[in-house]
Amino acid sequence: MNAPSAAAPSVQRDALHFLPLGGAGEIGMNLNLYACQGQWLMVDLGITFAGDTLPGIDVLMPDPAYIEERRKDLLAIVLTHAHEDHLGAVAYLWPRLRCPVYATPFAAAVLREKLADAKLLSEVPLTEVALSGRLDLGPFALTFISLTHSIPEPNALLIETPYGRVMHTGDWKIDPDPLVGDPLDEAALRQGGGSGGGAPGGGGGVVCGVGGVVGPRP
Ligand SMILES: [Zn+2]
Repeated sequence: MNAPSAAAPSVQRDALHFLPLGGAGEIGMNLNLYACQGQWLMVDLGITFAGDTLPGIDVLMPDPAYIEERRKDLLAIVLTHAHEDHLGAVAYLWPRLRCPVYATPFAAAVLREKLADAKLLSEVPLTEVALSGRLDLGPFALTFISLTHSIPEPNALLIETPYGRVMHTGDWKIDPDPLVGDPLDEAALRQGGGSGGGAPGGGGGVVCGVGGVVGPRP
């Protein structure tokens, strides 16, 4: 493991930081980091399919070197949903991070298949979180909020810390009549997005994934 590079951005202990290493401003290979009180939380760890522009390469992944250098302070990887661009890199990159992984049951089932293929199933501490469940990880208090999308069990995460709170949406579309799964939990979203007054020292923010609005299905 290398020493942290001198060029690394400074991270204040008494603040909430958001650091996307992948997926922000590009499609796919999501790797989002939050830092608070010297501890880190990763949200999603996905791939991108290279397509025709990069012959001979099938899969692209975010570069986790920054957080790998700080993995002793990495509390967990939390997955929002089961699409490849949100969990497809776990089986490739977890050996460099070696932290607990949390997901709702459908994403956990998809990930288990991938971990079994990579012969990592017995090594990765994977814990299922119930839909609409809560999770406390160090200074981060997480609430899973059900959304609708093109795959079962998409979740937003309300991330609350002593220094502010963020609504991390993952991917979503507003579908009042999903073919599979529960409808979007509008009440929880409204509550989470509220005034921002619940967190001392800061208001709320929103980190959005791919979203859209659809009308009722014919
Ligand atoms: Zn998705």
